[in-house]
Amino acid sequence: MRIGMVGTGYVGLVSGVCFAEFGHTVICVDKDASKVERLKNGEVPIFEPGLDALLKRQIDSGRIEFTTDIEKAVKGCDAVFIAVGTPSRRYCRDADLSYVYGAAREIAQNLDGYTVVVNKSTVPVGTGREVEDIIRAENPDADFDVASNPEFLREGAAIDDFMRPDRVVVGTSSERAQEVMRAVYRPLFINETPILFTKRETAEVIKYAGNAFLATKITFINEIADLCEQVGADVQQVAKGIGLDGRIGRKFLHAGPGYGGSCFPKDTLALTRAGQKYGAPQRIVEAVVSVNEDRKSRMADKIISAANGDVRGKTIGVLGVAFKPNTDDMRDAPALTIIPVLQQAGAKIVAYDPEAMATAKPLMDGVAWGNDAYSAAKGADILVILTEWNEFRALDLKRIRDDMAGRIIVDLRNVYKPEDMRTLGVDYISIGREAVYADASDNVLKASA
Ligand code: NAD
Repeated sequence: MRIGMVGTGYVGLVSGVCFAEFGHTVICVDKDASKVERLKNGEVPIFEPGLDALLKRQIDSGRIEFTTDIEKAVKGCDAVFIAVGTPSRRYCRDADLSYVYGAAREIAQNLDGYTVVVNKSTVPVGTGREVEDIIRAENPDADFDVASNPEFLREGAAIDDFMRPDRVVVGTSSERAQEVMRAVYRPLFINETPILFTKRETAEVIKYAGNAFLATKITFINEIADLCEQVGADVQQVAKGIGLDGRIGRKFLHAGPGYGGSCFPKDTLALTRAGQKYGAPQRIVEAVVSVNEDRKSRMADKIISAANGDVRGKTIGVLGVAFKPNTDDMRDAPALTIIPVLQQAGAKIVAYDPEAMATAKPLMDGVAWGNDAYSAAKGADILVILTEWNEFRALDLKRIRDDMAGRIIVDLRNVYKPEDMRTLGVDYISIGREAVYADASDNVLKASA
């Protein structure tokens, strides 16, 4: 199979490299010439574990190429995937589809022979139809179908997710297109991965419904965590207690500072917009969006409260700024809400992230950056764990405590155990669990407050 991949971001690059690994010939095109240059040299412009080795292998195999020339990426292909960004529009909830429409127009002009144009970008229901109309208007003689093939990979585990997905969803009613898509995913078919063929609209709704459901699960446990804090319960045990029920499941029940990232915030917003547009309000997801937004700023308040309500002139060390571990993606990261509130309250921030500092620096004014967790903690009055990178899970806490100017640790990811922190002799505030105060009399005082 010859496959064109339009857009080489997180999804396009991972998909392209993995399709080459399947044995297909892949031509990836991107508008960003510097990105294409780096990729041609085997350099991965994002942080994604395992991607660099796989990319090098596929460049050596000759099965993957990178170009800025859309004609080269489309002509002669059996399938051309659209994997461009669909961010939220700035002042409304809609997904910005201008990149998808632009890609559709460019593809249309270069189609020759029967081609399946496959929408891998996450798009509102009805976009497949619009892409088809655009291509038809641009090139009335083109022989093509438009299919929807939403992507479910997670940044940080993208290659494994792509190579061993829970399922593949393909939305098209055309048998010809189904046959091409079966050939594209044949290696997974052999592995007995469930491949779900649906109508195009169904596939489009599956993607938004899936992300909205996961965002709801996270938001649900976050609110339960708030209750746990008030009544002396432990949210991690609650999550385990409900998650062992097979109908609920244990995943996505980790209480934290609110979801962020490149998908959940924009996709939940776009789903609520679609609900309004089609007269089917998505009230649960509307509540999820607003609870989650509110939560991020409340996390800043939680940190300020841990310092008795005043962080003026205080230094706050922040461990992790990426929206989750194993990625350098900063899109909608909670850090982007929390840190500015702390700065406005008068705190000085010293942050460290293993991979996301280069992406984060242009987005965060006035932040000083450490070289590692210890340098971010050194001299800090308060230490905040904001992203649960593995390297923050086994810190030398005695060294951290001794190097800090203060003794307050706020763990927004529940990485550590309250009982260990009691032994360490620090104030330890986490999510949905008992707070620990170094001065035992504080425990009594604050418990009775
Ligand atoms: P991204 O912003 O990282 O990459 C998009 C790329 O497309 C950029 O490199 C951009 O230069 C390029 N581009 C834009 N218009 C182009 C054009 N006309 N021709 C060639 N290149 C063009 O985006 P992403 O994170 O890879 O997301 C892509 C889509 O996949 C989005 O709709 C997103 O919602 C969806 N998705 C993302 C993830 C994820 O984890 N990032 C997971 C599942 C689905």
